[in-house]
Amino acid sequence: MLAPGSTIGILGGGQLGRMMAMSALQLGFRVIGYAPAGDNVAAAACNDFFENGWGDKAALGTFASRCDIVTWEFENVPLAAVEAIPANMLAPHPKALAIAQDRLNEKRFVEELGAKCAPYMRVDSDDDFARAIERVGTPGILKTARDGYDGKGQWRVANAHDAQGVRFPGRACIYEGMVNFETEFSVILVRSSSGEIRFWDSTANTHKGGMLESSVLPAGDLVEAQVGEARAIAEKTANALQYVGVLTLEFFATGAGPVFNEMAPRVHNSGHWTIEGAATSQFENHIRAVAGLPLGETGTRFASVDMRNIVGEDALSAHRILNEAGEPHLHLYGKKEARDGRKMGHVTRVSHEKP
Ligand code: AMP
Repeated sequence: MLAPGSTIGILGGGQLGRMMAMSALQLGFRVIGYAPAGDNVAAAACNDFFENGWGDKAALGTFASRCDIVTWEFENVPLAAVEAIPANMLAPHPKALAIAQDRLNEKRFVEELGAKCAPYMRVDSDDDFARAIERVGTPGILKTARDGYDGKGQWRVANAHDAQGVRFPGRACIYEGMVNFETEFSVILVRSSSGEIRFWDSTANTHKGGMLESSVLPAGDLVEAQVGEARAIAEKTANALQYVGVLTLEFFATGAGPVFNEMAPRVHNSGHWTIEGAATSQFENHIRAVAGLPLGETGTRFASVDMRNIVGEDALSAHRILNEAGEPHLHLYGKKEARDGRKMGHVTRVSHEKP
């Protein structure tokens, strides 16, 4: 168990790290961040911040020597960087990163534990892509196996004719059939080092252009009917990885049950509502888990919760939200530039009334 005043290191400098650091500070820890130079909005919430490249082994070593434990907020931290940190200081175990960084590995891993996935094929060449269109069919999506996020590195294929306009990008991809879903939902859990698991309620998630737009509770009958099966898969995944911390699995709720989409070995955008909406937030429970502290209750405190992302230019007038009646909880991440499609903040509205 980490004593108050111990130091938690966070790899990655984005908003997830910022909110994680705020929880760590609240619990009396010191926080040091590490990420390559850029708009590292986590730095404002850290006692110290290393702006060094992922390939800078010396800087990673110095960073680790100043931490008691190291975690991450970003799943595309190169494995070599993570491996420069002593394994016994890391939580979760880096195996979770190795699996989640590759869409193929991740699907195979979770499928073996009993999850259903959309039909998919590995694509390493133009020929593979043509074969995948034939075998998997259309509509479908070509996705880069690695480094994609928020809909980046994805190309939709409506029909075989349309496929001629989509170029194989020259690096490992996966082509998967389009799932005809009713709703998307995520299972977010926290697992302690002793193996205790707690789940938050599953929100219904909507996406726009591949990026999360909103997460709401109640999630509706279909999600509620399928969440048990999805949780069982998430629990098996967490146990198989001896996972410590917050783990997220995303699913499509379909007429044929939950279909696994992807996992994130970290806190997740669809869990931001837990800051105000749940007894303990995903950020605090992640810190509690990696620090070896008792996990907090995860129950939902309201009859309805609605979390919406604030994207791009909308952030410039976001303070207007504070004029709203009710309880709009505004979070802005302090990003310098309001670029198109960039997550700038979020707002969570909670109510004791059902919608
Ligand atoms: P991903 O990065 O794989 O989570 O994809 C981002 C979003 O694109 C998902 O949350 C869905 O809204 C949509 N999407 C991705 N894959 C599929 C699929 N196979 N079928 C239907 N929609 C998908």
